[in-house]
Amino acid sequence: MPHELEYVSEQLQAAKIGSYKEEDQDDDDLCIVCWEKAREVIFYNCMHMCTCQGCAKGIMAAGALCPMCLAKIQSTITARF
Ligand SMILES: [Zn+2]
Ligand SMILES: [Zn+2]
Repeated sequence: MPHELEYVSEQLQAAKIGSYKEEDQDDDDLCIVCWEKAREVIFYNCMHMCTCQGCAKGIMAAGALCPMCLAKIQSTITARF
């Protein structure tokens, strides 16, 4: 693989990661899995609140990895507003 190509793909990846973060901040009240419901579940122990209750159940059933940081989720805490 030529070195220039490798460099370009690295730059592209960095740009993608950057825009991801911005989108995340714009919609920080919505579940990052379905983008329909409000976030209401906190994952322990990374303490990310990023999904609704329904999606959190799905995540727990599918291996229990936090969609934000991919940490193993020990348990969930439902936040009430
Ligand atoms: Zn959801
Ligand atoms: Zn997390």
